[in-house]
Amino acid sequence: MSELPRLVCATANPHKVAEIADILNGLVELLPRPADVPDVVEDAGTLEGNARLKATAVCAATGMAAVSDDTGLFVDALDGAPGVDTAYYAGPEATYAENRSKMLAALDGNSERSASFRTVVMVVWPDGNEVVATGVCHGTIATAEMGTRGFGYDPIFIPNDGDGRSFSEMTDAEKNAISHRGRAFAALVTALGGR
Ligand code: IMP
Repeated sequence: MSELPRLVCATANPHKVAEIADILNGLVELLPRPADVPDVVEDAGTLEGNARLKATAVCAATGMAAVSDDTGLFVDALDGAPGVDTAYYAGPEATYAENRSKMLAALDGNSERSASFRTVVMVVWPDGNEVVATGVCHGTIATAEMGTRGFGYDPIFIPNDGDGRSFSEMTDAEKNAISHRGRAFAALVTALGGR
């Protein structure tokens, strides 16, 4: 019999679900997002607000505790952009590759390339209780794509806590150990320990 907390995952993005399942393996029983739960419009204006919209929607639809996450890439030379709009940097239908190209072009010739990934994770229970945790990964934007693994901005993000490789050049375990999402979920697990 399992004593692990059971949480419905509010994300359906297969890359993120795989990472989250890896990070929470053995700590949480992660149930997939039901296919019939409609996508929410992520218009809260903050990472925490968007995470709350997603978790609350899945919690309401399933009657079970739900876990969500929301991430932004904050680039210092761009005054913190794209931030909460990271997924749509190159437009509402932008592909990962288009977003990366726009970022490389925006920083072309700029030696100031520091940036941070920030993730807010949240569990919402049917009674309205919630637990929130955050994770940050500082790094730099590469001058060209490096590596082919991962997703999103992985080929152009070089974490400061690594060895000069981009996230795309790391194994899943190497990335999860230092990533924004890995750190946010580790903090969440600690916070859940008290419940
Ligand atoms: P989301 O809120 O987790 O969906 O993240 C928003 C956007 O940030 C995604 O569409 C990706 O472009 C980017 N992103 C989030 N997490 C990562 C990551 O771990 N590596 C690279 N890009 C990421």
